[in-house]
Amino acid sequence: MLNKDQFADNHFIRTIIEEDLQSGKYPAIQTRFPPEPNGYLHIGHAKSICLNFGLAYVYDGKCNLRFDDTNPEKESQEYVDSIKEDVKWLGFEWSGEPRFASDYFDQLFDYAVGLIKEGKAYVDDLSAEEMREYRGTLTEPGKNSPYRERSIEENLELFYKMRDGEFADGSKTLRLKIDMASGNVNMRDPVIYRIRRAHHHNTGDKWCIYPMYDYTHAASDAIENITHSLCTLEFESHRPLYDWVVNNVPVPSEPHQYEFSRLELLYSITSKRKLNQLVSDGHVSGWDDPRMPTISGMRRRGYTPEGLRLFAKRVGISKSENIVDMSVLEGAVREELENTSPRLMAVLNPLKVTLTNFSDGQTQSRRAAFHPNREDLGEREIPVSRTIYIEADDFAENPPKGFKRLTLGGEVRLRHGYVIKCDEAVKDADGNVVELKCSIDHDTLGKNPEGRKVKGVIHWVSAEHAAEIKVRLYDRLFTVERPDAVRGENGEYLPFTDFLNPESMQEITAYAEPVAKNLPAESRWQFERLGYFVTDRKDHKPEAPVFNRTVTLKDSWQGK
Ligand code: ATP
Ligand code: MG
Repeated sequence: MLNKDQFADNHFIRTIIEEDLQSGKYPAIQTRFPPEPNGYLHIGHAKSICLNFGLAYVYDGKCNLRFDDTNPEKESQEYVDSIKEDVKWLGFEWSGEPRFASDYFDQLFDYAVGLIKEGKAYVDDLSAEEMREYRGTLTEPGKNSPYRERSIEENLELFYKMRDGEFADGSKTLRLKIDMASGNVNMRDPVIYRIRRAHHHNTGDKWCIYPMYDYTHAASDAIENITHSLCTLEFESHRPLYDWVVNNVPVPSEPHQYEFSRLELLYSITSKRKLNQLVSDGHVSGWDDPRMPTISGMRRRGYTPEGLRLFAKRVGISKSENIVDMSVLEGAVREELENTSPRLMAVLNPLKVTLTNFSDGQTQSRRAAFHPNREDLGEREIPVSRTIYIEADDFAENPPKGFKRLTLGGEVRLRHGYVIKCDEAVKDADGNVVELKCSIDHDTLGKNPEGRKVKGVIHWVSAEHAAEIKVRLYDRLFTVERPDAVRGENGEYLPFTDFLNPESMQEITAYAEPVAKNLPAESRWQFERLGYFVTDRKDHKPEAPVFNRTVTLKDSWQGK
């Protein structure tokens, strides 16, 4: 459930909105989230979603979901579907139906015709390369194209012919006639239409010309009566062009663009293009691989919408650099899971323990709560039998100083069970401990032993009753903080795929309490002392459980 405290507070965009509402400039705000359907959404988009939908929620406004689909070659229905699913899963509802910039192609074409008629746009024959030469640089002004002074009639005729498929791809463009000497390169007669014979996921083969992003984006915002158009800082220098479009096209409203800094997550990557490469080169199993920083990957990993929203709130909104360590994300996820996940015991690296004085009539099981302070989550029976498993590293033959777990001759409490004493360690031919023989103090179920203190408590499962489960242990996908910013000897960027963590996934067989049998997919648990785990959305079956490790209980990574 959403509530108004869940969103980043006191940031400059909220201040602007509050002023605009107070002054009566707008009766209500209208925002939008405008993804291009050319990949799955990632953690950076989650920040933008929480901002745009969150503001609409907090100020009782509306937020549209609009697909900015002007690059047909890279876009697809699969991406459209995944984006809708991710936004909903994060807990948000868009206003009305999802929208597509391509729904406005007719309108955008008419607007362009209008601009030509007013002498504000012209058809240019320069090739892409020539255009680059004419454009100038950051320090030198550009030059006017020799085609800039075509008559309105000629421009109109050529533009219609462009639309009607009479020219080859790339042979002509429509450009705004603004100012080739502008200090802002974006204002040097930007191209607003190009010829591209490509099948479009929404409009099919209707068009062979497609409008460019800046023109489309500003006009679409205005068509939808967006009040505050929020984007990342790299668009700051595009704002004059955004305003130019809003002011020179007869659009029905006057949206304003505001920029905030994009989220960068250390040990991760937030670029759809690079994430796409990980998928297509087979470095991960798909866009929703639990190691991916995509929303669908994080979902599969076991992150919750609440955890991601808490993260977005914590990283905040500003114009200064927003580089965030993975531990902030993991911390938010962990914090939220702590209150909501029932507990169970599972042993990942089992060591067999025989309870030599186990006695059918005498040795008893116990009931235990699923959560220490959530009675509503109920309780379960924890069965015990002669053979149990404990975690291999909860026993040490030569314990380091301060070791509080099981040692030869030492005692430990089985969580929710008895105190046991290790009488013998059985070894194989190579000297490895393969089994412990332990005796139960039958007078310790639910009470302290007489006359001595037993400090250690370890988790365990009954071998006879345990559910055999597959567990996927995930770790960070990359071994360096900024995989896409590492330079080689000659100063060149090294491929980010050089820094993939070869140990980012390990699959093991483990044993869990019987409650792990027959769980549905996406069921979240804390395995006591180990971390949070979730049954996999794709591969888990109630009769063949597959768990993903979402996050460990503590931030253990830095110390590695
Ligand atoms: P990418 O570089 O991954 O392709 P993009 O900005 O091209 O990202 P869009 O689909 O155009 O992806 O983004 C939709 C919205 O999400 C935009 O408003 C964009 O500013 C925002 N967004 C994208 N990446 C981030 C990020 N890392 N942090 C915050 N907002 C982001
Ligand atoms: Mg983009």
